[in-house]
Amino acid sequence: MSFIAKRLDLFDSSDFRDAIKKQSALNDPVDLSIGIPEELTPEHIKAAGIRAIKEDKTKYTPSNGIPELRQALAYKLVTENSVPCTPESVTIVPGLTTGQLLVYLAVLDPGDEVIVFDPYYPPYPHLASMVGARVVYVSTLPTFQPDLAALEAAMTDKTKLIVINTPNNPSGAVYSRQTLEAIAKLAARTNTLLISDEIYEHFVYDGSHFSVGSIYPNTITMNGFSKEHAMTGWRIGYVAGPQEIINAINELQQYVVMSSSSIAQHAAVAALKQKPTELVSKYKAKRDLVVSRLQQLGFKVDGAQGAYYAFVKAPHGLTDVEFVDKATQYGLIVVAGRAFSQLHGFIRISYGADIDVLRRGLDIIEQITKDLSSS
Ligand code: PLP
Repeated sequence: MSFIAKRLDLFDSSDFRDAIKKQSALNDPVDLSIGIPEELTPEHIKAAGIRAIKEDKTKYTPSNGIPELRQALAYKLVTENSVPCTPESVTIVPGLTTGQLLVYLAVLDPGDEVIVFDPYYPPYPHLASMVGARVVYVSTLPTFQPDLAALEAAMTDKTKLIVINTPNNPSGAVYSRQTLEAIAKLAARTNTLLISDEIYEHFVYDGSHFSVGSIYPNTITMNGFSKEHAMTGWRIGYVAGPQEIINAINELQQYVVMSSSSIAQHAAVAALKQKPTELVSKYKAKRDLVVSRLQQLGFKVDGAQGAYYAFVKAPHGLTDVEFVDKATQYGLIVVAGRAFSQLHGFIRISYGADIDVLRRGLDIIEQITKDLSSS
């Protein structure tokens, strides 16, 4: 008999085991699979982290984070996002993924329903199931934009929470202000909480980013430093929202994380003082390259207005797993869409990688489609 708890059955990775084994055996693969930006953590952020260590700022911090970071974040949320926030109504978490779990633990009872737009960032449904909530998927196909009628139809008197992620991983969709206003109106009418994961807020190439927390007070706004500041390994993010919910998260933090890394928090203060420049133009050039090459090869590309992903149907009637397997044979790593969706026909291509790697990856996809056409 296994000692492992049944909740681990929820993380069924059997579909991917074989692919991961084959991919990890590749010598010098072209990797378009990961959600990591190509940049390295900027020098001024690293210097602030090193300074924190040298100045012995290495102890536990308050569970909700150091005051100067919370002050800077409250200022950012109010001035840049128009999200009402005070230093008390924002809490620092060791990355949004942990933040997501803390929010769920704070607000979900077993049996509560959580609406997740499909495709989705994998932790949204899996962590919700883990805390005993029921996940209700609302498809955003074919445009990757939420359909209000479908959303309304999916809601019941048990719906507690709707998870929003714009710009979106994996589709790259950016939701318009109008769409978010309509969701907020529905949420207000049904007394439903919103989670808004805005970690890609600065990776927008068409349209503009809008924070739904600016118009709907029962919004839990989540953001972090991983992507914009190239700090994925520092594990630092934040959650802002209704005071009652932030208080509950802070109570949980005392038992679950104690505090986020003191060093990462001091580095994050420096990150907020000096924003990266030219990020959008650099990533827009990569987005344009990916979209135009894929379209030339016959792929239909929806979404891709933001973040750094394209989510496209596997060609020639292959399933996602079959395409990923074929790509691996050519030395290319992409992710099977079923990791992000209840549907099984898509692949996710990340353009977080630098443009030369991206070009090599697109050349391989071209070769695969040519070979499939002639076989
Ligand atoms: N939210 C989304 C939509 C993501 O795509 C990712 C990482 O890929 C995260 C959150 C993870 O954020 P963090 O590094 O802060 O845990």
